[in-house]
Amino acid sequence: MFRYYNNKQESKTVKAKLALIATALLTSTAALAITPSEHALTLAKDTIIVDGHIDVPYRINDQWEDVSKATDGGDFDYPRAVKGGLNAPFMSIYIPASYEASGGSVLLANKLIDSMEALVGRAPDKFALAHSVADVEKAFAEGKIALPMGMENGTPIEGSLDNLRHFYERGIRYITLAHSQANHISDSSYDLRRKWNGLSDFGKKLVVEMNNIGIMVDISHVSDDAFYQAVEISKAPMIASHSSIRQFTPGFERNMNDDMIKKLAENGGVIMINFGSSFVSKQARQWNDQFSNKMEEKDLSWSDPNAESFSKQYRQNNPYPYASLKLVLDHIDHVRDLVGIEHIGIGSDYDGVGDSLPQNLKDVSTYPNLVQGLLDRGYSDADIRKILSGNLLRVWREVEAYAATH
Ligand SMILES: [Zn+2]
Repeated sequence: MFRYYNNKQESKTVKAKLALIATALLTSTAALAITPSEHALTLAKDTIIVDGHIDVPYRINDQWEDVSKATDGGDFDYPRAVKGGLNAPFMSIYIPASYEASGGSVLLANKLIDSMEALVGRAPDKFALAHSVADVEKAFAEGKIALPMGMENGTPIEGSLDNLRHFYERGIRYITLAHSQANHISDSSYDLRRKWNGLSDFGKKLVVEMNNIGIMVDISHVSDDAFYQAVEISKAPMIASHSSIRQFTPGFERNMNDDMIKKLAENGGVIMINFGSSFVSKQARQWNDQFSNKMEEKDLSWSDPNAESFSKQYRQNNPYPYASLKLVLDHIDHVRDLVGIEHIGIGSDYDGVGDSLPQNLKDVSTYPNLVQGLLDRGYSDADIRKILSGNLLRVWREVEAYAATH
């Protein structure tokens, strides 16, 4: 538009006008910020909040920070978790898909678990490990944040039920069968190669053994076929630790479609909603796809030293379309309308989705905003408690009870 203004003075006026518009936009963004009511704050504080998936272990493995104190970066630290009323974030023992071929996944998983034990060891007044629902409740009663653990990617099982037992003993209480590529257990939603057309023979056996030993089966990340096979086999309820609703992101297999959500509900399971904008919003999804295409065109991967600066530049030229809290609430409404309140949880993916979190849900201090949003939509306190933890703890208890008798 500036080319229509060859007079300097006019150009200045336009700039001044643009500055005014920018200020107005900033003000309106600020106006979108939510102030949770006393009721929402109390509910968040008095209710156990379980989050299905937070990537602290990998974050601090990558770049160590003491999350028992306030940290500048990241989405999680103790003071912010306390502010948000968070009580039991599942710490993700994340194993990148490349370890399936390279080996070393058992070592990495053990190191990441060690790091959680070290965190609790350094701050035993703030954190407690949690290997059971009873541990979560005990930590809550003692005013500590419980740290249950889930393994994201079953690669470290390495086809061995001894490894499964080892990781159970170390405290792993769910396993996401695969991550971004097919492994020896399951196909992945992100991987076009359908190695097994669902689960491998070992994967099918593993689901049975996970039931028997008391590890929740997590179907986030797997292909649709793998989900359908797992839900047929699993005698205990399953979880999607951090998935959202495909209806809002057409064609994105990483999210669950309505038929799958119904099957998961029949199984007694819970879908824990991922907050990442590209999981909840079509616009953010498209932005992601376009960004990935550009990375591919430039032959860039995240391990490339130039990737970070490219991403920064790309974001400057193509502002990221952050999702709104409202849209996250739409996902929750959708599950409630489809299968009822008993099958919804939250799996934010904090520390795992970078700078893509929705407005008003930027870090672990913001759960009261979610609670406020639910209250505004007429959810009862009892229903909100189910979403915050009741449903997931019910599933976990059932998984414990099934294993106790098998
Ligand atoms: Zn994930």
